[in-house]
Amino acid sequence: MARIAFIGLGNMGSGMAANLARAGHDVRAFDLSAEALDRAQAAGCTAATSAIDAATGADTVVTMLPAGQHVASVCDTLFPVLPASALLIDCSTIDVVTARQVADAAATRGLTAVDAPVSGGIAAAAAGTLTFMVGGSQDAFTRAQPILAQMGKAVIHAGANGAGQAAKMCNNMILGATMLATCEAFALAEKLGLDAQAFYDIASVSSGQSWSMTTYCPVPGVGPTTPADNDYQGGFATALMLKDLRLAVAAAHGAGADIPMGSRAAERYEAFDAAGHGRLDFSAIIRTLRAKA
Ligand code: NAD
Repeated sequence: MARIAFIGLGNMGSGMAANLARAGHDVRAFDLSAEALDRAQAAGCTAATSAIDAATGADTVVTMLPAGQHVASVCDTLFPVLPASALLIDCSTIDVVTARQVADAAATRGLTAVDAPVSGGIAAAAAGTLTFMVGGSQDAFTRAQPILAQMGKAVIHAGANGAGQAAKMCNNMILGATMLATCEAFALAEKLGLDAQAFYDIASVSSGQSWSMTTYCPVPGVGPTTPADNDYQGGFATALMLKDLRLAVAAAHGAGADIPMGSRAAERYEAFDAAGHGRLDFSAIIRTLRAKA
């Protein structure tokens, strides 16, 4: 069993750290929030007094932090105290540039690092059914895989360092754009007098089908139970979708890629978030489309 330092015990990290402890690992957990630390302790982790305290003597460090600057700062603090044999697994969603810089900084100290962002929300983190997309060398992937498998249902090697983050932002750019397209199709269908259930029955077995329609239908009472059936509470927050779309837009600028659909989705989610709906599930954007005269 591994000696794991787990840094970042928020909505996602708390469930993930608990699953590692349940699997029998010695998990030393740290978060800036005392409440998060108490939760981790109740779930079988040892509460550390600082990131350094958590990482001292660890063979693996897992980070689940809000953004690139948090990951870079925690790594700056930890790299000097980690043994050269240590493995860093960053599961946060961050920009590709920072992910590669962190991996390079790790390599200069002889450490091994992978970026391993996740698909799946808070429920999947708690249930251990996340999908991990991993960027790093084959050796690093081979080391990270068994640990990630204890927190997820799928662990996929995307390529070199940064490729996991690239996969994550490209995947979520599709999600943002297809959700917006699905919402506008339902809104147009409604204005044309087409019943939402009838449209769902047709489009879900036709070429308009997508995950946004058949697994995460944005219309209440249509398709499987989704956040739409709970007044758009829970699910994947608009603010997090916006974060991922901003990362995709910034990456596209850096790479010289043309992303007209992703850019438009980012603009629409920017406006929806600015209107005070950041905490609502991202499928709630259908409200703005349905409301338009
Ligand atoms: P969160 O804000 O709930 O948790 C982040 C935690 O990091 C907080 O508890 C915060 O106190 C802690 N933290 C911040 N800086 C720290 C530091 N220097 N040292 C120690 N702890 C620190 O966020 P979350 O929802 O758990 O998301 C974490 C990451 O996972 C993000 O990058 C997010 O984009 C990604 N993600 C989230 C979801 C989701 O549904 N919530 C889904 C997929 C990916």
